[in-house]
Amino acid sequence: MIEDQLRRRGIGDDRVLRAMSEIPRERFVPKELARMAYDDRALEIGLGQTISQPYIVAYMTEQLQLQPTHRILEIGTGSGYQTAVLASLCETVYSVECLPELSEKTQVRLHQLGLTNIRYAIRDGTLGWPEHAPYERIIVTAGAPDIPGPLLDQVQVGGKMILPIGNHKAQQLVLIEKKDNRFVEFPLIGCRFVKLIGQRGWKAP
Ligand code: SAH
Repeated sequence: MIEDQLRRRGIGDDRVLRAMSEIPRERFVPKELARMAYDDRALEIGLGQTISQPYIVAYMTEQLQLQPTHRILEIGTGSGYQTAVLASLCETVYSVECLPELSEKTQVRLHQLGLTNIRYAIRDGTLGWPEHAPYERIIVTAGAPDIPGPLLDQVQVGGKMILPIGNHKAQQLVLIEKKDNRFVEFPLIGCRFVKLIGQRGWKAP
C-alpha cells in the first residue's frame, strides 16, 4: 500500500507514510473485509458509511501539513482510521461523528490501540465544535454541498481546512487557508465521499 498506492502516486511526506505504515488498517474494517483492508479503495463499514481509500487519507493528511503542536477538528469520525493517522501526527484530535453507534464502536477501537490524544463528540459536525475552537486545522471527511460557515469561523487565523465539496455523486477536495481577514481557496483533486448530513450540510434522507 505504501509503495504502490501512496509513494508512487506522489505522497512524499515521510511522517504521513510512517504513520500509515504503523496503523493496522485491518482493525478498522468489518472482520469479513479484513483481507481487503489494504486494497486501493474505500470499503463499507456499516450504517451506510465507508472507510476512505488509503490514497485519499494520505493526500488529505499531507495537504494539511500537520505539526506536532497542532489541534485539529475532524468531522466524520467513521471507522476512526483517518483519526488514528491524525492522532499520530498532532497534539490533539477533536473528532465529531453524528451516528452514536459508530462513534462508540470507534472510541473503543482507538482506545484499544492506545491512542489517548483524541476527544470525541456525537453531534452535528456541520456546526463544528465551538467549545474548543479555534483549531489550527480542520478536516471534513464527508461530502458537503458547500462550505459550512461555522467551520470557517472555527479555523484559527493562519490555519487551514480541507473538505470535499460537490453533489452526492462526485466532489472536489478544496483546501482553504485563513489569512488575516480573508480566505484563500485551492481546488484540488476529485473524490467521492458519503454525504455530510446536518444543518449546514445535506438534509437527512
Ligand atoms: N474518515 C472516515 C470517513 C467515514 S465516512 C473513515 O475513513 O472511516 C463519513 C462519516 O461522516 C460517516 O461516519 C458519517 O456518519 C459522518 N457524518 C456525516 N455527516 C456528519 C455530520 N454532520 N457530523 C458528523 N459526522 C457526520
